[in-house]
Amino acid sequence: MLRMAPFTYEPARTYAEALDLWLGAEAPMYVAGGTDLLPNLKHGIVSPRTLVSLGEIAGGIAEEAGAVVIGAATKLNALATNDVVRALLPPLARAASLIAGPQIRAMGTLGGNVLLDTRCLYYNQTAFWRGALGHCLKAEGTWCHVINGPKTCVAAQSSDTVPVLLALDASLRFLGPAGPRTVAIRDLYRFNGMDHLAIEKGELLTDIVVPKPGAGFRGSYQKLRTRDSIDFPQLGVAITGTFDGPVPTTLDIVIGAANPQPKPVRGLEPFLGRPLDDTAAAAIADLVHKQTRPQAAVHGDPAWRRQMASVFTRRGLLALASGA
Ligand SMILES: Cc1cc2nc3c(=O)[nH]c(=O)nc-3n(C[C@H](O)[C@H](O)[C@H](O)COP(=O)(O)OP(=O)(O)OC[C@H]3O[C@@H](n4cnc5c(N)ncnc54)[C@H](O)[C@@H]3O)c2cc1C
Ligand code: SF4
Repeated sequence: MLRMAPFTYEPARTYAEALDLWLGAEAPMYVAGGTDLLPNLKHGIVSPRTLVSLGEIAGGIAEEAGAVVIGAATKLNALATNDVVRALLPPLARAASLIAGPQIRAMGTLGGNVLLDTRCLYYNQTAFWRGALGHCLKAEGTWCHVINGPKTCVAAQSSDTVPVLLALDASLRFLGPAGPRTVAIRDLYRFNGMDHLAIEKGELLTDIVVPKPGAGFRGSYQKLRTRDSIDFPQLGVAITGTFDGPVPTTLDIVIGAANPQPKPVRGLEPFLGRPLDDTAAAAIADLVHKQTRPQAAVHGDPAWRRQMASVFTRRGLLALASGA
């Protein structure tokens, strides 16, 4: 049996109260749904002395001028089934519906998904398992077993909603010791699996703000995983665009679960303003293959995951071009 180290539990009713509790606590961490944090506690990956719980703070989804504002505390299941999200942001509802399984979607929140710790086969294990291997660079060790060197951690950002939120150009509202601030989600993630979030200590994610797409919007999210019933992504491909028939006038593709940082694909401009036919879709899929370098921190042969990034891209583009 895996036992958790003792900690003090401090429930908060508002984000301001949560911040106050965090500032006054010993070695604190926030916990929302706890679906990632509690396994990490049991594995001895994190060892807070205080857990400031956000579990009593209500989530919610509201339309504001030009945007859909989603409370960080919104449960994944509520996100996946919400009428506004399904109508205006279908790839986001789709990504949320593919996370883990029903029990985890009932507990897990969008905020926890956006701020999810990076994952690695050599790290997300019990303390005994990690110790038997001599630990690793991310904690208690000096060597990365994926890179086979002492310098870099490439544990993967493994959230399903994140590639879609980048493709939708979402921004994030935080409340921290220095006050509130808004950050573009494209600026949140760093290429460093040990420290992948560009946030200050104690900062709370309060809202995710997604611009309302205009007329002609189409989007998709495709996920590669071993067991469709529960598993984390081995790869995620989000595609969004504005279409006039088969012709895209804007196009964004973001690859997730390959690296510590989600990867927006560059060089799509030449494909705008002309029909997205087989040739164009194959050329974009080739571009994605060139720019995607999955690391072995996640299950599945990296070369196969890389190939699947281009397969998903081609399939996704042709489906969107046909209006499917
Ligand atoms: C078996 C299993 C399968 C899973 N499969 C998937 C999957 O397929 N796809 C996927 O994306 N995820 C998956 N997960 C991970 C997890 O369930 C989800 O990412 C979930 O959205 C996490 O949300 P949470 O509210 O439970 O976060 P928590 O576990 O409560 O917190 C996660 C992290 O975010 C921080 N945090 C949470 N909310 C805030 C906030 N508002 N402000 C500041 N910090 C905050 C916490 O301090 C913690 O560091 C899986 C987990 C398990 C156990
Ligand atoms: S990528 Fe390397 S350093 Fe990072 S968690 Fe995995 S083994 Fe550890």
